[in-house]
Amino acid sequence: MMKKITTIVIIAAVAVLIMIGFRSVVGRRQEGIFYAMGGIPVRVVAYDRTKGDFESDLREVESCVDRLENIFSRHRADSDVARLNAMGEGCTGDASPALIDLLRKSQRWSEKTGGAFDVTVGPVVSLWKDAAKMGRVPTEDDLAVARERVGMERLRIVDDNICLERSGMSIDLGAIAKGAIIDEAVSVLRRNGVVRGIVDAGGDVAAFGDGEFRIGIQDPRDRKKLMGTISIEEGGVVTSGDYERYAAIGGRRYSHIIDPRTGEPADELVSVTVVGPDAADADALATAISVMGREEGIEFLKEMPSFQAIIAWREADDSLNVWRSEGLAASSFSP
Ligand code: AMP
Ligand code: MG
Repeated sequence: MMKKITTIVIIAAVAVLIMIGFRSVVGRRQEGIFYAMGGIPVRVVAYDRTKGDFESDLREVESCVDRLENIFSRHRADSDVARLNAMGEGCTGDASPALIDLLRKSQRWSEKTGGAFDVTVGPVVSLWKDAAKMGRVPTEDDLAVARERVGMERLRIVDDNICLERSGMSIDLGAIAKGAIIDEAVSVLRRNGVVRGIVDAGGDVAAFGDGEFRIGIQDPRDRKKLMGTISIEEGGVVTSGDYERYAAIGGRRYSHIIDPRTGEPADELVSVTVVGPDAADADALATAISVMGREEGIEFLKEMPSFQAIIAWREADDSLNVWRSEGLAASSFSP
């Protein structure tokens, strides 16, 4: 019997709210917004500038985001990634440099995280998505088949060739592309003479320029409330969390984040916010820590001094608990 299922996809401004912008810098503030990456609001804020004008910056950022989605998105039928995934076993020549860069970065994160981060997890992600549509968890056999198709060591990059060494493999850049795209948007603004600014894509943020940003961290229990605020200098702040996106099968929530080592959805943490020197790395790390869970994640962060994190989980009595890196402790923060 088909069980009633609900797949809930909540795409909204979540997790991180830019509250106050720069504390210490007075500049002319200009702001614009457009929608991209599946309907996410992308907010661009520029403070001081040496040349050019904001309206043309905004258009250039929008077309830059669109160009990168046409490369990275597995959901756009003719994107580079979609074509790679459709190819099956073999190599593509002439791959776009942006894709090669992001795949190389992904390989490094995969190594560093012992496989918790793995962009070849596509077949297992698809399996769980289909399972949610059908209202039943995947069978052991289906999982075994999908897991056979996962493995970063089977993705090879030689010059401008990207090779998938097994048929049925698929690349999913969902855990790092948004960060990479907002980093690139920041590069566009810098090139165009903006001295300080923010790009905020649905709560994932890249900030640049001298000064200090104050960023509000949303309370996972109540989207209208803040858990606290943190102060950052330039860099990225990215959140992974199952309260944003999950599938419900038979009344149980399943995260869209998969542990590539087991093929099971990651279920220990409610949300992970990572602060780091750029948004792509913070994005990858937030997903990896969601997979690792609290203990492994906190241990891992000790080896990564340039990153800080806020990790929220539910206790056995369903109350929410929060851990944060010492470097963030000075900020006003009240779990
Ligand atoms: P994020 O919201 O940044 O944590 O990214 C989650 C998305 O990345 C999922 O919707 C999948 O498309 C993909 N994904 C899921 N699990 C992993 C993983 N362990 N490593 C890399 N990508 C993943
Ligand atoms: Mg991520």
